[in-house]
Amino acid sequence: MELDWHAIDRWLIGEAWAGSRINEHLAELCDRIGPRWSSSEAEWEVIRYIHDQLRAAGLDQVATDEYELDTWSWKKAEARVVEDNQPIDLLPFNRCPSCEVQSVIIDAGYGTPRELETVRADLPGAVAVMAMGYEPFTQPVPLPVRLKLLKEARAAAAIVVDVKSGRRIEYHTATDWRDAGLDEHPLPTLATSRESGTLLRKLARAGKTLSLKVESRFFTAPSANVTGMLAGTRWPGEHLLLGGHHDTVYGSPGGNDNASGAIAVLETARVLAALHKETGIGPGRALRFATYSAEEQKLQGSSAYVDRHYKEGIPPRLAINLDELSTGRMKGIVLGFPHLRELVQRQLDTMKDGLQCQVMSQLDPSSDHFPFLRAGLDAAFLWRWRFDRRHPDAEFHHEHGDTSDKVNVRELKDYVGQLARILLRLSHVPPEEWPANTITPGQVRARLETERGAVVRVF
Ligand SMILES: [Zn+2]
Repeated sequence: MELDWHAIDRWLIGEAWAGSRINEHLAELCDRIGPRWSSSEAEWEVIRYIHDQLRAAGLDQVATDEYELDTWSWKKAEARVVEDNQPIDLLPFNRCPSCEVQSVIIDAGYGTPRELETVRADLPGAVAVMAMGYEPFTQPVPLPVRLKLLKEARAAAAIVVDVKSGRRIEYHTATDWRDAGLDEHPLPTLATSRESGTLLRKLARAGKTLSLKVESRFFTAPSANVTGMLAGTRWPGEHLLLGGHHDTVYGSPGGNDNASGAIAVLETARVLAALHKETGIGPGRALRFATYSAEEQKLQGSSAYVDRHYKEGIPPRLAINLDELSTGRMKGIVLGFPHLRELVQRQLDTMKDGLQCQVMSQLDPSSDHFPFLRAGLDAAFLWRWRFDRRHPDAEFHHEHGDTSDKVNVRELKDYVGQLARILLRLSHVPPEEWPANTITPGQVRARLETERGAVVRVF
């Protein structure tokens, strides 16, 4: 059957806009349920909601894929200046261990090797204050590397100064997500605001002492990804995957990060299912849809998804990951590996909206495409907050202020329409025109080794 792409595009774009359910999903995820740390009861509410929505959209094989999550919670994180009891703004990094320290404050600058040399004698047992940003005019040293240097210098704890202004502090992670294993802090690491950071540096010069206490715990708990599919009409054994995480860090309603992506998954599935139902036009190869849990906990949900479905099983021709879409209109697709570039660009060109296919110069480990890439599978993400021409609302992710208003509804409708168009096109590319993927996990490991220690280039 010849497909009339002009008619299909009118239908998909029309449905993405006029039939949009984005506002209802935003109200449910961000306003009613709110923060949804994986393993919490709130996350389970979201899992049930997404499951019901995929089912209502008419998808097949809707399921919750349960798995055991290694998780963490915190109860207390306090710092006070011993001499005058002054409190300091403080937020533990994800998976910060418990600690109790009373010690002098040492200003470690940006934590570069040169700067650490100047304070090395004072660091053992001390609370080190370090800038999160990179030292100007200096080869950037990744934060996890600088934290390891502080550990080697025997600092007791690190307080890292957030780059944002106005007492905003985000949750951060202390390790390189390219490494195997769980997120183990080299030393207890917390974030402070720029304003408290300035105060701490003054206190360090005055030789003051800080009392720091963190209470947290590590445990395992069940969590789940949610999946559903639209059957393929021409090559039903093959599939493409569209996914995005539904969880958040503690305390964040997760509008930009990542109700935007999870809702785009739901909406793209709904629009394509409706096209099939109302016009009889379905995908050529199957389309699977997933929302992942625990992206914020070192990608454990998407890792479990890759393990469960692709250890054996036929891998996706391409897995597209949606994360933090409050970044202006859709600009294109960024592949992990280069061999699909021409194929994807050809399809984007038929859409005539100037969308670009790019390829990552380094394998970016910061979101749910990474477990696919690590397994040698073709995966991509969309241009997001770290890229040029970003939207100011994209500055909100791991903090209280990432509320539902940080999602620009009209922009998200545009994403949904474009994603439906590109996925349907890719699903109809015949298998013989699809370049084979010959990448092995061993080759990826070797590549990651060469990229280690460098700051990942993301623009
Ligand atoms: Zn995210």
